[in-house]
Amino acid sequence: MALDDNWFSEIHEGAGSAFSLRIRAKLHEEQSPFQKIEVYDTTDWGHLMVIDGCTMVSGRDNFIYHEMMAHPALFTHPSPGQVAIIGGGDCGTLREVLRHPEVAHVVQVDIDERVTRVSEQYFPELCEANDDPRAELLFIDGIRWIEDVTPGSLDVIIVDSTDPVGPGEVLFTPAFYGACHRALAEGGLVVQQSESPLLHMPLLERMYRSLAEAGFDDARSLFFPLPIYPSGWWSATIGTRGGDLTGFRSEAAATSGLQTRYYNAGIHRAALAQPEFFRLAVQDWMRPG
Ligand code: SAM
Repeated sequence: MALDDNWFSEIHEGAGSAFSLRIRAKLHEEQSPFQKIEVYDTTDWGHLMVIDGCTMVSGRDNFIYHEMMAHPALFTHPSPGQVAIIGGGDCGTLREVLRHPEVAHVVQVDIDERVTRVSEQYFPELCEANDDPRAELLFIDGIRWIEDVTPGSLDVIIVDSTDPVGPGEVLFTPAFYGACHRALAEGGLVVQQSESPLLHMPLLERMYRSLAEAGFDDARSLFFPLPIYPSGWWSATIGTRGGDLTGFRSEAAATSGLQTRYYNAGIHRAALAQPEFFRLAVQDWMRPG
């Protein structure tokens, strides 16, 4: 059945698939200096933000993504005081990070101020913590910022980027991971949205190999559903500078009282289970030589 103009569709050419949401209206469209930003009003998924034709955030399922970008890493690090978010301009990940009382300072570095301004207008609930005195919002290229960070000064870096095309491409390079490694204190973590394990294994392989090349001692992916992203099955990958990725602060996660809708200690444990094809692939990627 062909879809009419009442639908937004993202076509995943390489995967021979597409994802559609029924819309009532297009609320916003602009070409920023970096990318095309659109917002739709959908009939069943709330507002939908689209960047360069790719779905970014929907009112209905963004809580899964933002909670999984923030809480697993913050409950893995023993004491996450200094946090940076690279990208994340919609501010949803920032809001989740700020739920952690042990976070003393979080800087969000997005290349495109317009994403944040559009989010403030159409996703005010994601921006409700932006005035927290622990939060600092900067609008510059993430790689330029991270290269100038005082070495060893960060505990957790969260890379909440667009796909590895356009301005987001640089955030998937060995040079970027090298700069993250320098910026992290001993025991520090980087976590990055790492696309779909079903569709993007070459990208995941590149990430694992680049993290190792940049000096990270171990890496581990977490898996979660994300209906509006290609295949509906998404991942985040954590790399550590000398820390331990075999467990997390499960007692703290279970008793934190954080007001989450998706994340809890059981979800965290389950997200760390490695599908068989993925476990075997990672073994191969990590084999010396
Ligand atoms: N959840 C989304 C996803 O996985 O599709 C990501 C959402 S967030 C809106 C992505 C942000 O990354 C955008 O606001 C974009 O401006 C930002 N971004 C892209 N390249 C960047 C760069 N080089 N430095 C900093 N931010 C960047």
